Amino acid sequence: MPDTVLITEVALRDGLQIEPVTVPTAEKIAFGRMLVAAGLRHLEVGAFVSPAKVPAMADSAEVIGGLTDLDAVLHALVFNVRGAERAVSAGTRSVRFVVSASDGHSQANTGVTREAALQRLAEAAAYLRDHDVAVEATIATAFVCPFDGDTTVATLVGLAERLAALDIGVLHLADTIGAATPGDVRRGVTAVQAAVPEIPLGLHLHNTYGMASACAWEALSLGVRRFDAATGGLGGCPFAPGAAGNIAADDLVHLMHREGITTGIDPDALTAAREQLAKMVGHGLDSSLAVAGKSPSSIRFPG
Ligand code: ZN
Repeated sequence: MPDTVLITEVALRDGLQIEPVTVPTAEKIAFGRMLVAAGLRHLEVGAFVSPAKVPAMADSAEVIGGLTDLDAVLHALVFNVRGAERAVSAGTRSVRFVVSASDGHSQANTGVTREAALQRLAEAAAYLRDHDVAVEATIATAFVCPFDGDTTVATLVGLAERLAALDIGVLHLADTIGAATPGDVRRGVTAVQAAVPEIPLGLHLHNTYGMASACAWEALSLGVRRFDAATGGLGGCPFAPGAAGNIAADDLVHLMHREGITTGIDPDALTAAREQLAKMVGHGLDSSLAVAGKSPSSIRFPG
């Protein structure tokens, strides 16, 4: 097992996009600042997509503007060159592409086939390269699609190779609807590692069927060091029916620290951020730590 993992906190994007309430920009910025104060160094804070389709992301440029003075990498999602232009003018230094492994989810999420989505990203990649912006990519429905069923390993690997050709820095495999098992993760991660060994992998997990922690642990044992997670387990996907929240950052930090793997995150400060987030969205959060409270188990290597 590794000494340390890198957690990208995604509540401001993957968490809030599913919430019915509109959270004021100032509150988003204040929450982002709490996360950085807690030790998070990577935040996914917005998406440059149609404000009509995802109203919660309409203020992404302002949120980024309110956080740029911090010592943190701010990530934003982009699906095409128009989004890339908006990201650049907002001062974004790191962009995340998202492309679905399945046509069913691609159509629901972006309105086009996977192939057309890839073409758009190729244009966006060229634009971003010219503007010196780092690009990472996420493969959505990497293991299971709510419309098309299981994603085959061959499909996953084929897409990983196509994205690698766009010169991405990190490739994240997303279990968009939280239906993957640790075995799915093992087969997918192992195959992608063999196909694109030069690209570090990350995992984006949802906990719909309660297997997110088991999947994270499996990925860790395979050398994956990067995980997306949302404080309190907030989240879902408006274009993937049945998806529950992201793997909870607080639960993931607890697991890592208990096993002697550092995250750089202060658990008590993260708890305070979770309590703030619950106020922002107007309901309790359902991470195990939120529900059960602090564990009486001793933490071997906190921090
Ligand atoms: Zn997600």
